[in-house]
Amino acid sequence: MPESFSPRPPAHPPDGTADVPGSLDPQDWQALRAQAHRMLDDILDYQQNIRQRPVWQPAPTAVRDSFQQALPQQPQDLAAVHAEFMRDILPYAIGNAHPGFMGWVHGAGTPVGMLGEMLAAGLNANLGGRAQVPVAVERQITHWMRELFHFPENASGLFVTGTSMANLIALLVARSQALGTEVRRQGLQAADEQLVAYASAGAHKCIYKAMDVAGIGGDFLRTIPLDACFRLDMAALEQAIAADRAAGFKPFMIAGTAGSVDVGAIDPLPQLADLAQREGLWFHIDGAFGALGMLAPDIAPHLAGIERADSIAFDFHKWLQVPYDAGFVLVRDGNRHFDSFALPVAYLSRDLRGMAAGSPWPCDFGLDLSRSFKALKTWFTLKVYGTEQLGRMISTTCVLARYLAQRIDELPQLELLAPVALNIVCFRYRCPAEVNADLVNAATVVALQESGIAAPSTTTINGHLAIRVAIVNHRTQRADLDAMLQATLRLGAQTLASGIGRNGQGAFGSLGLRQDAAE
Ligand SMILES: *Cc1c(COP(=O)(O)O)cnc(C)c1O
Repeated sequence: MPESFSPRPPAHPPDGTADVPGSLDPQDWQALRAQAHRMLDDILDYQQNIRQRPVWQPAPTAVRDSFQQALPQQPQDLAAVHAEFMRDILPYAIGNAHPGFMGWVHGAGTPVGMLGEMLAAGLNANLGGRAQVPVAVERQITHWMRELFHFPENASGLFVTGTSMANLIALLVARSQALGTEVRRQGLQAADEQLVAYASAGAHKCIYKAMDVAGIGGDFLRTIPLDACFRLDMAALEQAIAADRAAGFKPFMIAGTAGSVDVGAIDPLPQLADLAQREGLWFHIDGAFGALGMLAPDIAPHLAGIERADSIAFDFHKWLQVPYDAGFVLVRDGNRHFDSFALPVAYLSRDLRGMAAGSPWPCDFGLDLSRSFKALKTWFTLKVYGTEQLGRMISTTCVLARYLAQRIDELPQLELLAPVALNIVCFRYRCPAEVNADLVNAATVVALQESGIAAPSTTTINGHLAIRVAIVNHRTQRADLDAMLQATLRLGAQTLASGIGRNGQGAFGSLGLRQDAAE
């Protein structure tokens, strides 16, 4: 091979100039390989042995302070930087990969998803568009999601960061359905009347944010009360729509929730679909975690009606355990979706052949131009595990939630605060009438988190602070729930005995639960 084709510069150019002075590739690939294998082993060790770690631990001050350094000017050994990661970063993550993590709604990730993500980073594909099979992989996922949700051939799909963004994309399509694509040039001046949307009081706040960002205004998201099962109250919704029409507003969208963030409730989807059809409104579903319950034969029937939505927003990074982030939006009318975002520009012109072929591109369906290959880790996850196993895993989290609810029912110190619809259990530690139970339960959750045993979170149910366990973690087992309950009983009793919640006494100060470490 002639010298000029040498793929890399000589290791130590005698005159200090390399053929490719700007290249960031290693001079010694062999050494990089060895280090890379060590890094892969370390992170696989983390996943394999995660049970031996606390779910979470507060980072010592010295560790937190070590992230306030000046911009590094000189190179450092990869091995040294990795050692710093192992010492100062890995132990102090939030711990959602751990089986004891049951707070908020976080997926746990899988080794397979991680490897898919590693390959995507190595390929460094930009999924904005162009003639490349990575885009076909994303279309393959869209195809699979059409199949799963019984959507038509013409439906479009797009990977986004998460359901917050997916809800925004869907809302913008609904907006252009209501006002025509005029709205893209003229803004909301294109509207004669104020747009109004509807969601339940249990809907995620990102829908409010989407109304805000879309320029429609958060006040014009009507909050519809819940029924006794925490589902949107249909009669109240009908009244709200009628009242808005009478007042001269323009209702345009109903956002149903399939798996509410607080309790996992599923709105009455068939009735919502009927009403949206009668009223000529866009029917969107926020199914952030719940929608993929379609993979579980025992949960799918509860989601009946989802196939009638105009758009669905959901996350692969929650119940499907794909590593963060991997949100998705599916839109029934792909043309409407395209018309809501596509913009012809010279530097993105299309062709029938060459690298500019394959239009439309993902960038025509959303806000992002440069996009990561989120589809790959999702594709690996779906292919390697298959939908049957993934569905069983999802079912299991619901079985575990029912097991937990039953245990709570049997324990006189605890009470359930909401029925268990799917995989979320809300309960609290009972307190005597003269004690502020909210303060006791809040402090108990902090103590649980700091114990490293289990990590539930909190929410408010009918005005009461609830300990909220969301089982979105394929690693969680009965023993983890038992350990969480045992710790709750112990720490709840300790909290109560400490005087928290009496005579206005709040948490912290008297509990002595690893406050030193938290500082
Ligand atoms: C998690 C969640 C969201 C937000 O999704 P992100 O992926 O965090 O943006 C929205 N709605 C519901 C019901 C959720 O559970």
